[in-house]
Amino acid sequence: MPELPDVEVLKGRLERTSLGRRISRVEVRDGRVVGEVSARGLREALEGRSLRRVHRHGKNLFAGVEGGGWVLMHFGMAGGLSHLPGTEEEPPHVRLLLGFDGGDRLAFTDRRALGRVHPIRDPESFVREKGLGPDALRVDYPSFRERLGGRRGAVKSVLMNQGVVAGLGNIYSDEVLFRARLHPRTGADRLGEEDIRRLFEATGGVLQTAIDRGADPEALPGSFLLPRRREGARCPRGNGEIRRLRIAGRTAYYCPACQPGRRES
Ligand SMILES: [Zn+2]
Repeated sequence: MPELPDVEVLKGRLERTSLGRRISRVEVRDGRVVGEVSARGLREALEGRSLRRVHRHGKNLFAGVEGGGWVLMHFGMAGGLSHLPGTEEEPPHVRLLLGFDGGDRLAFTDRRALGRVHPIRDPESFVREKGLGPDALRVDYPSFRERLGGRRGAVKSVLMNQGVVAGLGNIYSDEVLFRARLHPRTGADRLGEEDIRRLFEATGGVLQTAIDRGADPEALPGSFLLPRRREGARCPRGNGEIRRLRIAGRTAYYCPACQPGRRES
């Protein structure tokens, strides 16, 4: 599932290839992609105009449209963006295609068809209406501590709760917990000041490193968990084997030696 680093990479792709280009054609190939809005609504919002700016909040990408208005892109479980110059063939699972003057295209692809692209008023009201927490890469420490501390539930679930901080999903929350040396089931309300400080630093560090490496978990440094996120793999710190467990319906990977569980008091 595209998480904050993936969406940041897609944001860069959109900026490099599509800003300021006049959209001559909007093809909605799958009506599900526009959500509650009609295909016609999206066409009217985009055809004949260009995208002027891009903004990301958590896993959401927003494109500001010439003349006002915004379009939301949410990538669901498997969404992505491909820029297709000239006659380059389309990738599979194209749900929406924007054609630019000059013939190149931007394809919104999605194997699972859970992603959405539709007009919204503006990013601020979208974030407010959805109840999203601050962006996980831009949040400051006092706000992070206030939003995380005292929450009930496993720290893994709390980190993935988009209403607490927006941007972390199942994959990168594992890396954050590994770097902060916290067992994924630790109750968030049992975290001390030092734990929260380590979590905050791990969150920023992991997300920025992932973005710098093109959001490819396999390209992360050898000291990271994600390149070997599978049961029985050797911990990169060399002290144990990676294990997995289910938390709130998701699979967490962790090192029991680096991330020991707390004894209940
Ligand atoms: Zn370890």
